[in-house]
Amino acid sequence: MSTAAKHPAWGPGTISVRAGEEGPWPGGATQVPIVNSVAFGYDDIDRWHEVALGKRTGHIYSRNTNPTVAAFEEKLRQLEGAEAAASFASGMAAISNMLWALLRPGDRVVSITDSYGGTSRLFLEFLPRYGITAELVPTGDRDALDRAVAQGCRLLYVETPTNPTLKVVDLPRAARAAHAAGAILVVDNTFATPILQRPLPLGADLVVHSASKFLGGHADVLGGVVAGRRDLVEAVFQFREINGAVLSADAAYLLIRGMKTLALRVRQQSQSALAVARFLQGHEAVSRVFYPGLKSHPGHDAAAAQMNGGFGGVLAFSLHGGFDAVRKFLPRLQLAHLAANLGSVETVAGPPRTTSHVELRAEEREALGIPEALIRYSVGIEETEDLVLDLGRALAEVMPD
Ligand SMILES: *Cc1c(COP(=O)(O)O)cnc(C)c1O
Repeated sequence: MSTAAKHPAWGPGTISVRAGEEGPWPGGATQVPIVNSVAFGYDDIDRWHEVALGKRTGHIYSRNTNPTVAAFEEKLRQLEGAEAAASFASGMAAISNMLWALLRPGDRVVSITDSYGGTSRLFLEFLPRYGITAELVPTGDRDALDRAVAQGCRLLYVETPTNPTLKVVDLPRAARAAHAAGAILVVDNTFATPILQRPLPLGADLVVHSASKFLGGHADVLGGVVAGRRDLVEAVFQFREINGAVLSADAAYLLIRGMKTLALRVRQQSQSALAVARFLQGHEAVSRVFYPGLKSHPGHDAAAAQMNGGFGGVLAFSLHGGFDAVRKFLPRLQLAHLAANLGSVETVAGPPRTTSHVELRAEEREALGIPEALIRYSVGIEETEDLVLDLGRALAEVMPD
């Protein structure tokens, strides 16, 4: 766990590159070393005891803390403007540890119907086994969310923009509703990243991330993190010490390396995503485009108010011609991995029907406003014009006659 009272005034691009890397590292290394050691040895037994009591800084056992992992946590902590941060083996490990650490039997959680699939399953399937109930409110319905929270809850959990139709939750309003009910607000900031959106200054108490997406940015490492109020992160960290779902030093190193370019990547991806969304919006093979950067998107104003410098690198669109069109179209893309991840330097595309929402029935997807012919498109850092060209060519080949 990383904590500190002061946040430097550097901009996010500077923090991405430098924060958490001060060392000193062995031999004067300028880069954070991968410290693959289960334990850390002490010649001085009294010093060891002081570290164990938390009176001195130091590391004892890597299930608790590790130097490489601590560097990653510090970078993320500063990016989010958080008091503390604790990392995990994956995004789902972060989210589930956070929920187990902070909830008790009898508690109630309010969330949105568009939460990440794994998170929704925690709410609907696993938490109820321990006497914790959850109500999922239709994401666009802000009054319904306020009402559900006002009925009393321990925790309000939201994502924005959401997967896959990029719905937008008004974060300051959600924070007001949560705090008026004596609840905490937790925000999954995976899609926006701290480059474009910082929920903590907007009123959230905790932020969670799947670091496997934009933070790592290269689709080669899983990780997760919880950041925010010190007392809450400490409770989550103490549970992690026992639960053991830690990030490895190797994974932390890849995340640190990836995050050095986070600001550059996310700004480029957002710019390209807007250009791609505008191109698709005008294309006759496309029936609908979902991107909060488009003025036609119902969440555009809220997104513009709470996001800075772009609307993110993920968009979605549906094709005329139903799933048959999708089946023909996707393999014709030369510049997209057809896969279930997002946030990578390479463009990634896939149908939610096959990826994030495969376990739902067609009617359930429809109730969530997910058309069967929807494609989620996570924009990489390829040249914008090349992506537009690639999409245009593939669309031309599946145009209904
Ligand atoms: C991928 C994802 C998760 C889960 O993260 P993992 O690292 O795959 O465990 C949670 N929330 C969102 C929004 C995601 O996209």
